[in-house]
Amino acid sequence: MSLSTMTADLVLLGAPGSGKGTQAAILTEKYGIPHIATGDIFRAQAAQDTALGRQFKSFLDRGELVPDALAIDVIRDRLSHTDVENGFVLDGFPRTVLQAQALDRLLSGLRRPLDAVLYLEVARPELLERLGQRAALEQRSDDDPRVAAHRIDVYLQSTAPLIDYYRRRGKLQVIDGGQPPGAVAEQIERVIGGLQTGAV
Ligand code: AMP
Repeated sequence: MSLSTMTADLVLLGAPGSGKGTQAAILTEKYGIPHIATGDIFRAQAAQDTALGRQFKSFLDRGELVPDALAIDVIRDRLSHTDVENGFVLDGFPRTVLQAQALDRLLSGLRRPLDAVLYLEVARPELLERLGQRAALEQRSDDDPRVAAHRIDVYLQSTAPLIDYYRRRGKLQVIDGGQPPGAVAEQIERVIGGLQTGAV
């Protein structure tokens, strides 16, 4: 976190439908840092009519995580681009403890530890309702009710342990993600402001 340039290395953590993409877009706009969404990267790969593309598509359509090694490779490559110089906002990575450990190693090699992990807390019924709305709007096959419910279960089993992982490391900032997007963004802005002045 740098005071003079207002830059930040951030992770958005939260279940599918918790608003990570929406808040990441706002942060990108506000701070000029790239929004890195592994889901978008994998959806682009899955759209390719190749053997690898079909493999990705099968993970995505079932609501399963792609193997850790592939996700870590994508992030290692993405964080080597020059546009992350002033910070980044990770959306959808890490999703497992193994990925979080790999990210820690990667960032410590780059001598830039994470500034904060913004955990968007949203109750399950609200998540299901939001994913149902998004299924109709964006035609994302993995938002259909059965797959969406499974994705939330995968999140609870594989990703929710990261809440403790980052809390123990003093990185976790809990945000009430159940509020409207503007109010969530304001809460995030206050947290980031506090980080910059050393208040949180
Ligand atoms: P998202 O758009 O973040 O909900 O991601 C959509 C899908 O992409 C997920 O359901 C997974 O199949 C895959 N995916 C995205 N990020 C990761 C990750 N970090 N590790 C494993 N799979 C991922």
